[in-house]
Amino acid sequence: METLTIVDDISKVNRKKCLGCELCVVTCSAEAIKLKNKEKETIPPKTTDNLNEMILNKKKELIEKYSRSKS
Ligand code: SF4
Repeated sequence: METLTIVDDISKVNRKKCLGCELCVVTCSAEAIKLKNKEKETIPPKTTDNLNEMILNKKKELIEKYSRSKS
């Protein structure tokens, strides 16, 4: 998968390929690997009402953005 490479005893993670499964963290005998949350994190809605609200808010945001670009 080539997500994790080791060069000169230093591991490097390919962030584009990393799934965040933590397998490397739990199997590293030196406990040298830690995962950090990505800066932008999308929290999934808990209910369909929350999902609908998120969709409506995003639509409003896009409509406002489009309207501003046309004026
Ligand atoms: S978290 Fe999982 S996918 Fe990412 S580098 Fe570690 S083992 Fe690979």
